Amino acid sequence: MSDCLFCKIIAGDIPADIVYQDDKILVFKDIAPKAEIHLLMIPKVHIESLAEMGLSQNSSQENAHNELIAYMMLKLPELAEAQGLSSGFRTIINTGKEGGQVVFHLHIHLLGGSNLPGF
Ligand code: 5GP
Ligand code: ZN
Repeated sequence: MSDCLFCKIIAGDIPADIVYQDDKILVFKDIAPKAEIHLLMIPKVHIESLAEMGLSQNSSQENAHNELIAYMMLKLPELAEAQGLSSGFRTIINTGKEGGQVVFHLHIHLLGGSNLPGF
C-alpha cells in the first residue's frame, strides 16, 4: 500500500525507532508515547484493521489470519519482558474510525511503565 504510513516504515522510507522485527512483524516506538513505554506492533503485510481479519478453519481462505494474530498476541509478553515490563503491560487495538483508529494499518499498542494512565 503505497500511501500507508506504516507500510512506508516497513519499507524503510520513513524512519522509526525499531525495537524488534522478523519475517512477520515489526515493532517500533510510538512517536507520541502515552506511557513510559509505548510500542506499536504491526504485521509486515498490509491489513487495514482487526475488522479485516478473518477467522477460519480453512487456511486457504483468503482473509484467514488465525496464525498471524495468534503469533502477534503470543509475541507480546516476550516483547514486554524485554522492555523490562515484568509486572504487567497493556495492549490496545483501536479498530475503525469510531474505535479511535487513526492509522489504517493494523497495529497493537503495547503500553507499560510507571505512568500508565487509568482506563
Ligand atoms: P491509532 O490511533 O491508529 O490506534 O494509533 C496510531 C498511533 O500511531 C498513534 O499512537 C500515533 O502516535 C502513532 N504514529 C502516528 N504517526 C507515526 C509515525 O510516523 N511514527 C511512529 N513511530 N508512530 C506514529
Ligand atoms: Zn500498510
